[in-house]
Amino acid sequence: MPELPEVEFVRRTVASVAEGERIERAVVRRAGLRRPFPVDLAARVAGVTIVRLSRRGKYLLAELSAGSTLVMHLGMSGWIRVEPASYEPELHDHVVFVLASGSKVVFNDPRRFGVLDLVPTQEVSRWPALAALGPEPLSADFDAASLARACAGSRRAIKVALLDQRVVAGLGNIYASEALHVARLSPRRQASALSTHGQPTAAAHRLAAAIRAVLTRAVEQLARNADGQRFRVYDREGQRCPRRRCGGRVRRIVQAARSTFFCPACQR
Ligand SMILES: [Zn+2]
Repeated sequence: MPELPEVEFVRRTVASVAEGERIERAVVRRAGLRRPFPVDLAARVAGVTIVRLSRRGKYLLAELSAGSTLVMHLGMSGWIRVEPASYEPELHDHVVFVLASGSKVVFNDPRRFGVLDLVPTQEVSRWPALAALGPEPLSADFDAASLARACAGSRRAIKVALLDQRVVAGLGNIYASEALHVARLSPRRQASALSTHGQPTAAAHRLAAAIRAVLTRAVEQLARNADGQRFRVYDREGQRCPRRRCGGRVRRIVQAARSTFFCPACQR
């Protein structure tokens, strides 16, 4: 499932060809994804210029010259690619934006949990899912104090709290596991352990720093198109913990119906 680094990768890729470009036409190949597409989507974006492509959490926001913004979420399996003019859409290409340059911006989503909505730009910040988002983890709004505040009194496991987009925007199953490993924190600890008397604990400071580090590194790796071992613990059940001199092995447990990967030896 695409998380902040993957969505940021898509944003940069698409922005490089689409920002400042006019949408010649849009080809809408089905009625919707998780929800129906906006009425008359194709007609409403035809001839309009993409002013700016930004990201908030896992959402992509394409601000259009017509005073509206395309709000997109990649769901479980979505991706947005840039293809040449000669490209012919495939089965799961649900919307194709044909730019004036001829390039095609293709929204592909096999499992169809994605979202594509068209919202008046002035109302974007009030769009319910966006309005509910917590701080952006790579911005100054996010730190140990904001993390501790969001988790204060929460009896949920810390891993489960990190998936809550109101706590911090953009984390998902992969990078939550990765950050907890960097911070040496057990995913099973109670989220409330991040604050004491309203102040962030040492664990909160470690975790906030780990979240930033893990996401920053992933964004850079994706930008470099780096292959090789990307993850420390995610999807590495049974393998040796990558922490030097740890000697533990990665375990997989299920929390809130999602897999968590961690090292019981060094994550406490
Ligand atoms: Zn370990």
